[in-house]
Amino acid sequence: MNLPRIDIDLGKIAHNTRRLKKLYGSQDINIIGVTKVIAGNPIIADILVKNGIEILADSRISNIIKMRKAGIRAQYLLLRTPALSQVEEVVIHAHISLNSELAVLKKLSEYALRNHMIHKVVLMVELGDLREGIMPSEMNAIVKEVLNLDGLALIGIGTNLACFGGISPDADKMNELSSIAIRLEEKFKITLAMVSGGNSANYNWFTSSKNTGRINSLRLGESIFLGREALCRRPIPGLFTDIFTLLAEVIEAKRKPSQPYGEVYQNANGDIPRFKNKGLMNRAVLAIGTQDVMVSGITPKQKITVLGASSDHLLIDNGKTSLKVGDTVAFDLNYSALLRVFNTPCIAKNTINQYECESIL
Ligand SMILES: *Cc1c(COP(=O)(O)O)cnc(C)c1O
Repeated sequence: MNLPRIDIDLGKIAHNTRRLKKLYGSQDINIIGVTKVIAGNPIIADILVKNGIEILADSRISNIIKMRKAGIRAQYLLLRTPALSQVEEVVIHAHISLNSELAVLKKLSEYALRNHMIHKVVLMVELGDLREGIMPSEMNAIVKEVLNLDGLALIGIGTNLACFGGISPDADKMNELSSIAIRLEEKFKITLAMVSGGNSANYNWFTSSKNTGRINSLRLGESIFLGREALCRRPIPGLFTDIFTLLAEVIEAKRKPSQPYGEVYQNANGDIPRFKNKGLMNRAVLAIGTQDVMVSGITPKQKITVLGASSDHLLIDNGKTSLKVGDTVAFDLNYSALLRVFNTPCIAKNTINQYECESIL
C-alpha cells in the first residue's frame, strides 16, 4: 500500500454523522455537513449523504464542483462569502450561499436572473468574532434591499463564531441571533427557514441550553470528522476521535548525537534552531515533510517524539521505541493537519471499513 497515506475509516464517519444528527435533532436542529476539511472528497461526502445529511457545505466552489461532478446528490451551500469574480460559478454550482456584502448579493441576483435560477441566500450577522458578518445595526437596511432583488430567495440568517476571534457561541450570542431572526420576521413579514447558529464550537452551548430558541441549523465539520467540540477540543461522548490515521515510512534509523554540530546558521525553514544536548539518541527519518502536512498538528500514536521537519523529511527521537528502515509510523491529526493532508496530492487517500458500517452502528 502507498506511503505516505491517510487511512479513512468510513464506518466511523457514518457513526459520528448519525450520532450528531440524533443529538442535535432532539432539539430540531438540522446538521449541515461541512466538507472543507476533507477537500470535498466525494467518497466521504457520499457517506454523509447516505447517513442523513441533506446539505453539504464547503468554503470553496471548486470542492462543490468536485462533489457534484462525482454525482453526490445534496443541496450545496457555499460557506465563504462569494468573491465578486466568482459570482457566476456560485450561482451555477451552489444552491445556497452565506453572504455579508450587498455588492455581491446584487451580482448574485443579476446572474441568477441571467441563468433563470433562484439562488438561496443566508445573511451572516457579525456577533463579535470579527470574521464575516453584517453588523446587527445594518441588518434591517440590507434585508430590505435583498427582498427587492429578483432571482434571490432570502432563506435565513446565520453567524459564525470561534473562528478568528475565538469568541464563544454562548447563550448570550445565540439569544441575540434568535432575537434578530424574530425581529426581522416581524418587521418584514417573512419566514426565515434557516437560523444557523454556528459550527462545531456550538456543542457546549447546545448541551448546556434547555432552550435553543430559533436556532435550527448548525454547520459541522470538526465534530463529524474528529469527534470533538471546537472550543476546548474535548471529545464528544459516544463519537469516534480516531477516524483518520496518517502513515509514513522510516527511511533512515540510526544512533546519532542529539545536538547538531558545527557552526549554526538558518535551517531549511529559515529558523536558527536550538537543540538540547541529550547525548546519543536513536533517531529516525520518515519520508514525509512540511509540503505534505502541518507538522505541528500531528501526534505519533507510539511513544516517540517529533523533533522537526524540512520539506520532505520528518525527524524523530525514537526514545525507547525501536524503529528500523521500512517500518511504518502512525499519527493522529488535528483539524489544520487534516486540512493540509486532504489538499495535497502527495498523500494517498485510503478508505477502510466501508463494508462494516452496519456492524458498528
Ligand atoms: C469551516 C466552517 C464551518 C465548520 O466549522 P467546524 O468547526 O469544522 O465545524 C462552519 N461555518 C463556516 C462559515 C465555516 O467556514
